[in-house]
Amino acid sequence: MSTIFSQIVEGEIPARIVYEDETTVAFLDANPLAPGHTLVIPKDEYERLNDVPDDIATDLYATVHRMVPVVEDAVDADATTVAFNNGEEAGQEVPHVHCHIVPRFEGDGGGPIHAVAGDRPSLADDELDDIADDIESRV
Ligand code: AMP
Repeated sequence: MSTIFSQIVEGEIPARIVYEDETTVAFLDANPLAPGHTLVIPKDEYERLNDVPDDIATDLYATVHRMVPVVEDAVDADATTVAFNNGEEAGQEVPHVHCHIVPRFEGDGGGPIHAVAGDRPSLADDELDDIADDIESRV
């Protein structure tokens, strides 16, 4: 069964599409966190960023990069929070990769991206070294 976002791509359900190219689409979030809250998706259905092929990831970022200043200008925002909920445990509800562009305004009462995690771990230097080595060896 296709995701709700695939149905938007196919024109089966309405959306306020603000940009579209061969591989990506941007449209307004239906339950916006702020005026101008925009979602950018690949047209093809991938559940997580981890599943997105390199060329589509490049296209996706290009559209995010294009849309951020445009959205800020359109709603006269001071800044934007730009983020992916990548996986269910991270809060992803729609299993079709999407980037949130959330306009931010001075005094809007929101928090930084650091607010999304739970308690911060206390990691010793050698643990940080091990994690860095492990990540580096997998790239
Ligand atoms: P996430 O929790 O990262 O999966 O976010 C899903 C987002 O999709 C939420 O912000 C919803 O408000 C938004 N959303 C769900 N259905 C639609 C829709 N039909 N059109 C536009 N945005 C939607």
